[in-house]
Amino acid sequence: MSQTMNHRANTRHYQLVCTQEYNFQKTTASQDYTQYIRRMQVDLKKFKKSVEKKGKKMKRFLTKIEQAPPKGLHTLSVHLDAEVWQEVDCLSCANCCKKMTPTLTGKDKERIADYLNLTVAEFETSFLEYDKKEKDWRMQKQPCYFLDLDTNKCRIYAIRPKDCSGFPHLTKKPMPDYMHVHKQNLAYCPATFRFVEKMMESIEFVKA
Ligand code: SF4
Ligand code: SF4
Repeated sequence: MSQTMNHRANTRHYQLVCTQEYNFQKTTASQDYTQYIRRMQVDLKKFKKSVEKKGKKMKRFLTKIEQAPPKGLHTLSVHLDAEVWQEVDCLSCANCCKKMTPTLTGKDKERIADYLNLTVAEFETSFLEYDKKEKDWRMQKQPCYFLDLDTNKCRIYAIRPKDCSGFPHLTKKPMPDYMHVHKQNLAYCPATFRFVEKMMESIEFVKA
């Protein structure tokens, strides 16, 4: 989904400490167990209330991470990402496809136009709009044309835009450069919200 990179501040007012240690042997073992946990059905009304209640605090937390990333941040994030996807069921949500738009690369446009038996120009005219400010191509409408609203499934799942397949980019590196992305997405994406909640439970700020 369309984002622009923020410049990272150099100032360090806090020392951050990961309060949980993770090792991947343990993670593999626990995955055998967590596959039996029932995934959370997303209630978007409750989610919106949670964002209203906790969103500002979560954004402040992400700013601190952005300014002073703790050691082991990526390892921790990989672990938390795996936990999040054991809990959140995207098929009960699809809020990203309903409220946001992906950006499409040239290859995305060629692949999808070809699938629809259209030229790229025809595909652009019928489905896309060009954002002059961000200089990228986006879907014209939300919910996305390709979302089946009865099932919450993507009708072009196998050839969907790269931005869709990577969303919500929870473990993308360099991680501090993605904190502003998570700040935006946590208001729309319950998986991002849960990821940031888990980060807040796992990372402690210590005044330097
Ligand atoms: S292309 Fe598919 S995955 Fe991407 S926004 Fe549309 S419905 Fe969602
Ligand atoms: S990626 Fe986030 S917003 Fe999209 S369906 Fe999954 S939980 Fe919902």
